[in-house]
Amino acid sequence: MALHVRGTVLPDGEVRDIWLVGDRVTFEPVADAETISDGGFVVPGLVDAHCHLGIAYGAKPIQGLDQARELAAIDRDAGVLALRDAGSPYPYPELDDEPGVPRLARAGRHVAAPRRYLRDIGVEVAADEVAAAVTAQAKAGTGWVKLVGDWIDRGVGDLAPSWDAATMAAAVEAAHAAGARAAVHTFSEEGVEIMVKAGVDSVEHGTGLTLDLIDEMARRGTALVPTMINIRTFGNIADSARGKFDGYADHMIALRDRFPSVVLAAHEAGVPIFVGTDAGGGIRHGLAADEMLYLHEAGIPAEAVLAAASWKAREWLGFPGLVEGGLADLVVYDADPRVDLRVVKAPRRIVLRGAVIR
Ligand SMILES: [Zn+2]
Repeated sequence: MALHVRGTVLPDGEVRDIWLVGDRVTFEPVADAETISDGGFVVPGLVDAHCHLGIAYGAKPIQGLDQARELAAIDRDAGVLALRDAGSPYPYPELDDEPGVPRLARAGRHVAAPRRYLRDIGVEVAADEVAAAVTAQAKAGTGWVKLVGDWIDRGVGDLAPSWDAATMAAAVEAAHAAGARAAVHTFSEEGVEIMVKAGVDSVEHGTGLTLDLIDEMARRGTALVPTMINIRTFGNIADSARGKFDGYADHMIALRDRFPSVVLAAHEAGVPIFVGTDAGGGIRHGLAADEMLYLHEAGIPAEAVLAAASWKAREWLGFPGLVEGGLADLVVYDADPRVDLRVVKAPRRIVLRGAVIR
């Protein structure tokens, strides 16, 4: 049976009637539809543009599909109805179109340099094998590959790029040739400069960004997924490195402390920013609303944060929102989230793939 929703529909802010027929949205009235929501603010389903369903809390690979389902359900029940998985050690293509599971845009495994990432998570390859590894991981994913652009180099005692500029450029080229977009993990100044110039499609974290590089990203249309929640844990990373790698610890703290102003500068320069929690590993699922509030705290207006978590992110990932023929994913809030963003913590109604979740 068709479903009917009436309310103030974002982004345009008009009071409208929407009908959901199967997994599609229409503005054409459908007879005998069941009204499931009347009033409030109707938003295209939220997106977590950086999380990991294949990594369990504690940074270990998950053990089976049910574990991925459980993690996905935590996000779904918070109104997050599409996920970009930014690297998974456990493949789960079986869930791509499963009812009850948010829409998925998946990278395969992280591609990292040897011993330069979390143990057992990525495929670790030397420079001359990077392009081939990227091609293979593009096939394992759905439209994305994930590169680890920098990590602590224990020999140097600080963050350092994983590979040189030519290797990075070849990696991005291999991703594009395989029909995938390239996302890169980067914390350092040196790493992010190499990766932006290599032509990556999205910078993950990006704590090392300078104003010049921000301008370069805006020119190229390179996206930034800041993962504010992750950056706030840099104090813990620094604490555990102290004594052995003091320079690294100090560096991480400095990157953390300047980051909110970096993110605001990127927003003001026109860099497309998306909401990503980095759930999986050391961060719990279901925190998209917190990530949104941290972006707002950094100075990004509520409506822009909402766009970054909803309609703009859906467009970026290829999951059309509340447009004629769009996908039947929506969240209803009692009050206007553009006025008080905190309402995103309490969705009143959630509909995923045309099915009422709440
Ligand atoms: Zn991540």
